[in-house]
Amino acid sequence: MSPGNDLAIQTQSLRKAYGAVEAVRGVDLAIGHGEVYALLGPNGAGKTTTVEILEGHRERDGGEVSVLGHDPARREPALLRRIGIVLQTPGVEPYLNVAEAIEQYRGFYPHPRPLDEIIEIVGLTEQRGQRIRKLSGGQQRRLDVAIALAGDPELLFLDEPTTGFDPAARRQAWDMVRNLRSSGATVLLTTHYMDEAEHLADRVGVIVDGAMVAEGTPEDLMASSPAAVVSFRLPPDHSHLLDGVEGARASGDGRYEVRTESPTALLHDLTGRALEAGSELAELRVERATLEDVYLDLTSEASS
Ligand code: ATP
Repeated sequence: MSPGNDLAIQTQSLRKAYGAVEAVRGVDLAIGHGEVYALLGPNGAGKTTTVEILEGHRERDGGEVSVLGHDPARREPALLRRIGIVLQTPGVEPYLNVAEAIEQYRGFYPHPRPLDEIIEIVGLTEQRGQRIRKLSGGQQRRLDVAIALAGDPELLFLDEPTTGFDPAARRQAWDMVRNLRSSGATVLLTTHYMDEAEHLADRVGVIVDGAMVAEGTPEDLMASSPAAVVSFRLPPDHSHLLDGVEGARASGDGRYEVRTESPTALLHDLTGRALEAGSELAELRVERATLEDVYLDLTSEASS
């Protein structure tokens, strides 16, 4: 691979095995500068292994890797200065306050990002003078990101950035990633939340059993799926109308949902049944599949 190429991250035929377990089996990645890329996949798919190889924390067995034009396996300081890695428990002194802790890490870098900018990006403005041991779990995770931003990295790795967050903290973390993106940084994140990927990522890659099974913008992936969800409401004593309809399930409150890859045929069948029974499919809706539906299809196909 040519060094100094236009991509922030490039891998070709990346491989890694742990004994007999082939965790990564030939993954190709091409992530542009300024892109937010989400790596998706079930537990054990190989996401963390891939990310750790890119971070230089794990050795690969095969394939080529370029991160900002460097091979991360060499752990060159010239690369490490330009990337940000969020560690779960950095060794921050708990008696420091938020600003002091970030300052301490800024001191390690030749061109640190301005303190106020970091605090604003991670949304800790109100807590800037607060002692670290008094931060909530979510605030602590944001401080972890702040520390990763201290050296003003061009590329940030975020491994499951919102796991364990309450809904408000998740939204704040999403704002944080958007802020990072608008400041020009490249972000590689892993997540199990499809709505997170849909909202944040320019592109997503789905890994199953160590291999990439789909890649594209969330829009592209959703558009590539024929899946649709037909939903409607039935009167309480009319559920027999759906006897034998594959994939039909009650979603509560008298509503039913049917997932299908052939919405036209399904609607024909359902409306025929309703007319014959003199019944109404109230609030009938046909919606396209969400990223989660597409993801579930991809991951169940690939592992079956
Ligand atoms: P999760 O979503 O659960 O975090 P993941 O996609 O990040 O999963 P990895 O952690 O990369 O998956 O694991 C890929 C495979 O490699 C799994 O089968 C896992 O058990 C195995 N594995 C990971 N780390 C090691 C290790 N240090 N030693 C042996 N096997 C490992």
